[in-house]
Formats: sequence, C-alpha cells, structure tokens
Amino acid sequence: MIGVKEETIQGEDVLYDCPICNEKGIVAETRSVDTALTLLVVLPLIVQKRTELKCTSCGKRRYVDIDLKYIHRYSPDELCEMVEPPWKVAASALAFCSLLVSILPIIAIVLIIPSFVMNRKRKGWQRVATYVAICIQLLVLAFLFLGFLVDTFS
Ligand SMILES: [Zn+2]
Repeated sequence: MIGVKEETIQGEDVLYDCPICNEKGIVAETRSVDTALTLLVVLPLIVQKRTELKCTSCGKRRYVDIDLKYIHRYSPDELCEMVEPPWKVAASALAFCSLLVSILPIIAIVLIIPSFVMNRKRKGWQRVATYVAICIQLLVLAFLFLGFLVDTFS
C-alpha cells in the first residue's frame, strides 16, 4: 500500500571538508535526492528533499537540507557542519511514517518504537512527530479498549 519513490538530479561538484576522512577542501559530487512516500501508488507524499554529498576521497555519502541550487553558497567547513549521516535520514523517514500510520493500532507501534529510539535526542520536527504519533496511538488503543469493555459487559 505504501511505497517509496526516489528521484535524483546530478549536480556540479563542490569543495567540502569531509567529516569522515577529515580531508579539507576535497571535491564532493552532489546529487539532489527527493524521497517520496507513495500511498496506493498514485498519491505522492513528499517526505524529503535533500542534497547528497559524496566525498571523492573516501567515497562516503552524507546529506544536507540545502537545495542543490544553493549548495555553492556554502563554504567547505559550513557544509561539514551541516551534513548528516544516512541513519538520521532514515530516522526522519521513520518519524514521518509513524505519524502517517499513527491511527492504525499495532502497525503504528512497529514504526513508533524504532522512531522513538532514533529520534528522542534530536531537536527537530522528528521528535515532535514521534511524540504526536505516540499520543494518537495511545488514544486509539484506549478507545479500542473501552469499546472492548463495553462489548464485554453490556
Ligand atoms: Zn571523505
């Protein structure tokens, strides 16, 4: 029912201080990566628009929340401070999905638990989305439990 679609556009190379191999001013290949969750194939829900930087020295990829068009405005050390490892990107997608399915009992819990573990120490929307998903899920479970009680004792 829910699928993932990824669209990429190749950008020009930039200079960047790589946080993994610690090379300063190394050439990085850039790509814009749009990840969309699709609901029933036809309904695209854009999750994230990111720019990928691939270090030409160590080959590792990191992501920034900057549009590919504006990436040249940032200096090598500014880019170094802003990049995020792939697990954080996955954690963001997880937070979004948790919120999306939060009204579905049990299914939501499967997504909420890893999202909570990965996002609880972050400062952005990911943590808020996870907490909102938890609240919605608890309400749904409480509602179902009440329904069960009413059914059993009436
Ligand atoms: Zn590197």
